[in-house]
Amino acid sequence: MTQVYDRVALIGLGLIASSMFWAIKRAGLAGEVTGYARSHATRETARKIGLCDRVCDTAQEAVKGADLVVLCVPVGVMGAVAADIAPVLKPGATVSDVGSVKRHVIEAVSPHIPDGVHFIPAHPLAGTEHSGPEAGFAELFDNRWCLLVPVEGTDPEAVAQLRALWEGMGSNVDEMDADHHDLVLAVTSHAPHLIAYTMVGVADDLRRVTDSEVIKYSAAGFRDFTRIAASDPTMWRDVFLTNKDATLEILGRFTEELFALQRAIRTGDGDQLFDYFTRTRAIRRGIIDAGQDTDAPDFGRGKAGS
Ligand code: NAP
Repeated sequence: MTQVYDRVALIGLGLIASSMFWAIKRAGLAGEVTGYARSHATRETARKIGLCDRVCDTAQEAVKGADLVVLCVPVGVMGAVAADIAPVLKPGATVSDVGSVKRHVIEAVSPHIPDGVHFIPAHPLAGTEHSGPEAGFAELFDNRWCLLVPVEGTDPEAVAQLRALWEGMGSNVDEMDADHHDLVLAVTSHAPHLIAYTMVGVADDLRRVTDSEVIKYSAAGFRDFTRIAASDPTMWRDVFLTNKDATLEILGRFTEELFALQRAIRTGDGDQLFDYFTRTRAIRRGIIDAGQDTDAPDFGRGKAGS
């Protein structure tokens, strides 16, 4: 694989940044990768495990001379981080991010981007419920989508270069408008996470079901909710606070459908339930056919022994 950028700076060294680093190294996509994380502890862990060619003690130091700067911090602090690094950005450099919400990030970051620096928001649709510098792995983005959300008038060459980086890291790349991105993600990710958080909370509140029963019998569907509900609280708090409208829109529709199914159960309308579940089963089939999940029973867990 050919080098795409001379120098890349990763700001925030959690799951996504660490996976980017290992994927960049796997394919030799950058000459040098610098990194910065807020806490001393994370920077020390990064140094210990060889995450980044150089771990810096300030964001400005990491960014100096970088051709690509990727903001890998929670959505709620993207603006503050951009303001901090703006004075040292190299002319002609590209600033990107990996935030799960795009309209808010554009509004928070754009005002700080100096003339002559490109800003190309991005979002890799890949993740796990684990976080931190040790959670990353090179294969995270393989065959997963990365959405680029360039604002109008962005230099096409800069977009093509960022696309080449994500493709080199194993992703399929698409471009999308920010508002559409936020609505699509509200359906596919944000609302499902809120529902999982709620379901696990409900089980926790149910005094009739003892803790041991919840855990012991969790394979019957609940376990998948607990995995999603174990996701990072800071990241997800920020997602809901910054993608408010789209998430509330989808949750409104969800509630209407839930009431309809509740009514079908109460009135014994088996046909409605059957038709509904047939439709949702076809959606699952489509996800497997698109190579975005495995159709191994129990998500392949039995095979993995977990
Ligand atoms: P993570 O593992 O929790 O890491 C977050 C990193 O950001 C840590 O290095 C943390 O530093 C740093 N950070 C937190 N607050 C900061 C602040 N105020 N100033 C500077 N640095 C700060 O998170 P992640 O899962 O990699 O997520 C990073 C971004 O990727 C988020 O915007 C998220 O929406 C997006 N994303 C996540 C997923 C996913 O599934 N996890 C998928 C796609 C996109 P310390 O360790 O020093 O606290």
